[in-house]
Amino acid sequence: MDNYSIDTKCVQAGYTPGNGEPREIPIIQSTTFKYSTSEDMGKLFDLEASGYFYSRLQNPTCDMVAAKICALEGGTAAMLTSSGQAANFFAIFNIANAGDHIVSASSIYGGTFNLFNVTMRKMGIEFTFVSPDATEEELDKAFRPNTKAVFGETIANPALCVLDIELFAKVAHKHGVPLVIDNTFPTPINCRPFEWGADIVTHSTTKYMDGHASAVGGCIVDSGRFDWMAHKDKFPGLTTPDDSYHGIVYAEKFGKEGAYITKATAQLMRDFGCTQSPQSAYYLNLGLESLHLRMAKHCDNAVKVANYLKSDPRITWVTCPSLEGDKYYDMAMKYMPKGTCGVVSFGIKGGRQVAEAFMKNLKIAAIETHVADARTCCLHPASATHRQLSDDQLVAAGVSPDLIRFSCGIEDAEDLINDIRQALDCLEVK
Ligand SMILES: *Cc1c(COP(=O)(O)O)cnc(C)c1O
Repeated sequence: MDNYSIDTKCVQAGYTPGNGEPREIPIIQSTTFKYSTSEDMGKLFDLEASGYFYSRLQNPTCDMVAAKICALEGGTAAMLTSSGQAANFFAIFNIANAGDHIVSASSIYGGTFNLFNVTMRKMGIEFTFVSPDATEEELDKAFRPNTKAVFGETIANPALCVLDIELFAKVAHKHGVPLVIDNTFPTPINCRPFEWGADIVTHSTTKYMDGHASAVGGCIVDSGRFDWMAHKDKFPGLTTPDDSYHGIVYAEKFGKEGAYITKATAQLMRDFGCTQSPQSAYYLNLGLESLHLRMAKHCDNAVKVANYLKSDPRITWVTCPSLEGDKYYDMAMKYMPKGTCGVVSFGIKGGRQVAEAFMKNLKIAAIETHVADARTCCLHPASATHRQLSDDQLVAAGVSPDLIRFSCGIEDAEDLINDIRQALDCLEVK
């Protein structure tokens, strides 16, 4: 598969049926797997042989779909998780313990911010949040001797800022730690963070990868390039014996290419069980088969909608990184010349009250907390997900009170524009 283009990988990577086998990825709906001898099974438990024994740890259907995402990102190993939240939790917790410290971009998905700032803090892991626009010197200052990773989103949800992945990777490596990138919004179709120096990539597959609002899921992919042994003291979980696995040293036994995902599977999946169901993985794979086609349409629609919004005097501001003049336009062109994502945000004259009335008038776009669906959806965070915040608190969180997040689906762009226009006409704002 390596020599094929990403479009071909979307359709075919991860599963190559043999003679007489099912053409489509089979759903292996089984919690457990049968062995002839206890000795055979023992080898699996000792990680001496690879194979399946219990679907909390690994399942063939999930592994086939993980292998496809691994191929799309250009990694060496990958695992599916129950959600994007689980993926980001595992990605960090796999290399950080109580007493450790993480540097993270501040403009990230609200759920991830809460996971880091509240829940993982309770577990004893400290976080320093830095501006996604931070300079090298500002980033340097955030590091401590116990820093274990740097985290950011390629395109932040919902702020839509574009991260300078190359810079963040350079600084992370200078301090001997990996860069973890949540690549949910662009997907590997539009950006492959490993090509810019990132070491680990995470996804909420719930978004564009699934693309049909069918199944919640997540994924972690390893580039296989971070040299854990070269920073032995920082990552004892990978470079010293694991007593819960008969003294295995992951980085020695599985090398740079396999250590990180093997440890996350053997320890974190075993103990936390944030596993994806084979049925969900099957839905995810159906989405992946058309990801390359859908992303192009999502991005094209977003630019057309953003251009229309820019031209309508009733709209006060528009954010779309692919739109010339956007603060992140140059960064978007560097990292995502083919397109960014289908999400745009904007404000309407009249602010908060008008935003709610406007959304009620939409006929195609539905009000949802979701994004990245084939069907257009929109959200007014100030009256929904962020409604407990005051206007001042909203601004501090990077969400202005008038902000409407508009996730362009794959319908016809003219229909979407006409829907917005008629909804504005009903408002009688001039
Ligand atoms: C939605 C989202 C998540 C969380 O994913 P779930 O699948 O909802 O758990 C994480 N990161 C980003 C960028 C997201 O958009």
